[in-house]
Amino acid sequence: MTKIQDLRGDSRILGPTNPNRAVSAITKIARHHSATETGDVWAFQNHWRGTLGWGTGGYHEIILRDGTVQRIYNDVVTTNGVGNHNTNTYHICVVGNGSFTAEQEKAFEERAKDAMKRFGLKYTDVLGHNEFSGHSSNTCPGINMNSVRERLKGNSTTNDSNNGSSNTNSNNNSNTSLPSGVKAASGSYTVQVDTNIRSGASTKSTIVGTYKKGQSFNYDGYIDAEGYRWYTYIAHSGARRYVAAVSAASGGSSSNNTTNALKGSNLPNKGTYKFTANTNIRAAASTSSAIVGSYAKGQTVNYDSKVTAGGYVWLSWIGGSGIRRYAAVV
Ligand SMILES: [Zn+2]
Repeated sequence: MTKIQDLRGDSRILGPTNPNRAVSAITKIARHHSATETGDVWAFQNHWRGTLGWGTGGYHEIILRDGTVQRIYNDVVTTNGVGNHNTNTYHICVVGNGSFTAEQEKAFEERAKDAMKRFGLKYTDVLGHNEFSGHSSNTCPGINMNSVRERLKGNSTTNDSNNGSSNTNSNNNSNTSLPSGVKAASGSYTVQVDTNIRSGASTKSTIVGTYKKGQSFNYDGYIDAEGYRWYTYIAHSGARRYVAAVSAASGGSSSNNTTNALKGSNLPNKGTYKFTANTNIRAAASTSSAIVGSYAKGQTVNYDSKVTAGGYVWLSWIGGSGIRRYAAVV
């Protein structure tokens, strides 16, 4: 029932650069929260890579607010979830900050039970982040783990009947009447070029956000208007959103609907960059941060990550001093 986006082995996923471990070494399953109201692997990766400088993400699975599961690393990959405990731990993160949706709890039960079965573990082996030794001061996972374990303990009859209420909720969702002209359809759409999210099925509607190329979302309907097929869904805020299906091939002719790509946004996430202008090297991804040096036009840098901030795409790398440096693509 739970919707799974299997991103294991996907080239867009960070690393992994940590050494593998044997699946037989896994003795614990950790529950985390993201400590953010929203987010997904694409948002969290920017933090892991850009801010923390990691080569492997923090979790094996991420449960989004709507209960969708992003599986991002294979069981053998050691991820960075709980310091000093990672070699023997499988990490599942629930997006939220101390409050989680019924869909997420249902998905967590399914995924934790699946992991328990794969690794031959018991419900007592499922721990919150702050139940690992040395981590008691952490607020993660933002939920009483005794009640979580109580739900994992039983055989599922009682749990299933409890879950009846969340099933009813999802039925209610599908009963939500669609706006006129919108045809019911369900699926997942992967954005082909950076595309605006709008409040209506028109390029004149308010832009409320952006999907980056490669991101995907689940839709509950579509409508054809202004020469586009618009996929639509109810956002976490409860408001209906629309995203035009713009193909990479037609990207040029549909600039009205795509964002103005920043210079450098088409560069790979890591690689070698040749500066096309004299460019300052800075301590952070901001034009107000300290200038610590400069590159001359024609010089190259090997960068390991890329962040967008303040209207620029910033390339980042660890300098010779061991300190992380940034340069804007100008
Ligand atoms: Zn945690």
